[in-house]
Amino acid sequence: MKIRLVSKTTVDPSYVKYLLEEIGVPEEFKDVIEEPEGLIAYIARVSSSNQANNKYAGLIRYCMSHGHWSILEMANVVFEIETSRAISPQILRHRSFSFQEFSQRYAAVDSSGIEIYAARRQDTKNRQNSIADISPEIAAEWDRRQLENWKSSFEHYTWALDNEIAKECARMVLPLQTKTRMFMNGTLRSWVHYISLRADTATQAEHQEIASAIKAQLCESFPIVAEAAQWITE
Ligand SMILES: Cc1cc2nc3c(=O)[nH]c(=O)nc-3n(C[C@H](O)[C@H](O)[C@H](O)COP(=O)(O)OP(=O)(O)OC[C@H]3O[C@@H](n4cnc5c(N)ncnc54)[C@H](O)[C@@H]3O)c2cc1C
Repeated sequence: MKIRLVSKTTVDPSYVKYLLEEIGVPEEFKDVIEEPEGLIAYIARVSSSNQANNKYAGLIRYCMSHGHWSILEMANVVFEIETSRAISPQILRHRSFSFQEFSQRYAAVDSSGIEIYAARRQDTKNRQNSIADISPEIAAEWDRRQLENWKSSFEHYTWALDNEIAKECARMVLPLQTKTRMFMNGTLRSWVHYISLRADTATQAEHQEIASAIKAQLCESFPIVAEAAQWITE
């Protein structure tokens, strides 16, 4: 699993100039409106005549705790995610995001292409849970079997390609562990709700790992939203 921050909303300098020179936002607010979170607060106050307040953390906190989510739709973030075909369908269910995913129809999968996953025991009381207490011997055998399965699947896959079978047909023999790479673009609102669901223990551990890594990155890039979402406490 790997995640990388690809892009995030930044405020265009020409807009900052316009606000300062034409709208008359005081120079002392320049630092605020240059920051995406400051701009979110500026936009949140669009209906208010009182823009003269450079303390925007409280406003963002207030809006989030009162369900005024649309202010978080003013900023976008794109992440690149490397995971497996087992986890990517869970991610793709988050319909408010836009995606691009590596298609196995046009480019061939290479032999290094699986994620090896840990063995966990099924929780018999909670179907959404699994427990990391499998013996080291079974865990080692599970790793070995995953690799053996991959070797065999990949051999069938390359046989199919070598015999001019189309990639879109050949890929049918690949396991769910096959690596995939996707780009996920969403507003901060979508990310806040995605993190609250997917960094939670009810989510499969491999997906939680992705959501937690994204959350850590968002905490750095949007510290006030992160604090209002109670991801970080001062
Ligand atoms: C633990 C778990 C188990 C699941 N099991 C199944 C299953 O068995 N079968 C199955 O088909 N699917 C399952 N799902 C998938 C689930 O039903 C959703 O399809 C998936 O989580 C995508 O969520 P979403 O539709 O809210 O999309 P998103 O894109 O995340 O959200 C859609 C919109 O709703 C908004 N939103 C989301 N939450 C809130 C909120 N709290 N307040 C305000 N706005 C909000 C977002 O900002 C966005 O604008 C499971 C999900 C989880 C987390």
